[in-house]
Amino acid sequence: MAYYFDHNATTPLSDAVLACVSRVLRECYGNPSSIHAAGQAARQEVERARSHVAALLHADPREIVFTSGGTESDNLAVLGAVRPGGAAGKHVITTAIEHPAVLGACAQLVREGAEVTFLKVSGDGVVDPEDVRGALRPSTVLISVMHANNETGAIQPIEGISVIARDASVLFHSDGVQAAGRLDTDVQSLGVDLYSLSAHKLNAPKGAGALFVRKGVKLQALQFGGRHEQERRAGTENVPGIAALGCAAEQLQKHRTSECARQEVLRNSLEERIFRLVPGVKLNSGSARRLTNTSSLRFDGIEGEALVIALDLAGFAVSSGAACSSGAVEPSHVLLAMGLTPAEARSSIRFSLGQGNDEAQVDALVDAVAASAARLRKLSPVYEHA
Ligand code: PLP
Repeated sequence: MAYYFDHNATTPLSDAVLACVSRVLRECYGNPSSIHAAGQAARQEVERARSHVAALLHADPREIVFTSGGTESDNLAVLGAVRPGGAAGKHVITTAIEHPAVLGACAQLVREGAEVTFLKVSGDGVVDPEDVRGALRPSTVLISVMHANNETGAIQPIEGISVIARDASVLFHSDGVQAAGRLDTDVQSLGVDLYSLSAHKLNAPKGAGALFVRKGVKLQALQFGGRHEQERRAGTENVPGIAALGCAAEQLQKHRTSECARQEVLRNSLEERIFRLVPGVKLNSGSARRLTNTSSLRFDGIEGEALVIALDLAGFAVSSGAACSSGAVEPSHVLLAMGLTPAEARSSIRFSLGQGNDEAQVDALVDAVAASAARLRKLSPVYEHA
């Protein structure tokens, strides 16, 4: 049985979500746009889920748009907010550590004639709100800064940035894909206008997500062909996926605080024991405030990919950098933006904990990390042994 420590890549289904999905797949097969009873049953599932997601975000249900996941939510937010009236000549502020879903949408805006500022971050991986203020121009229409980083877990100063955005009358989007379920995601106190979620990071299946769109925000749809989701996202709704997201949101509201505290104890013990047993290991996020489940460590003289493979063979799933870029030769753009050298970035491993992990698994993981690191270093022609 493999032990799974890659919850920032994706999460297994919780029992409650699994039960919800199978019930909806079996019983609620109607098209939510149909007026007959089967359609109404499906519509009821979608609207119940909308209420749960809205409650998790402290939003009005009418401010929730269901999508196919985090990537679509980010694209809809970034492209949809800038495109009305044409993107040419408009300016967007984002950061160098965003997920490719935001970076790719920004790259598309550049092709459409917009200008984008990619802000640097500190060595701990955090953006300075004053840099956001300094980047503002009369043509700025959107700021997009993620709530928590997927690789380091570093939490960004969203409240501080939202004050700056509001003062400048600029829309503010935050990618909350990693933060949801792990931080307080009250969009009122965060002060965001747009906020992205993804079901598969919340113990629900892949293929569903949501975008919070504050009332009054003008958003251009990405796809056409139906009046679904208040004409913001055409296409028959993914009823089981959406119901699962709603169920996950409901569960998180009940258990988030205690579960995050439990994971923090495990994560701290994982780090303490690795630091004690393995020389030459550093925490990439420094002293940044970060998600309680995430640990990004670099191991001097070790290729992260080699350690990932060694741990996989020993029965542990971890990741080097972001899962989306695993397999790619380039070192993580997030770690490079924090000032790590390409070699340091390539020597990094991300451990991300979740609901299924316990103390015994962490103990076994630490032992495997220590053994694998020692073996890989012994083989390394460059590592200097003490
Ligand atoms: N944003 C962040 C911060 C993520 O970590 C991810 C997934 O890894 C995404 C967006 C994309 O979400 P999805 O996989 O649902 O498209």
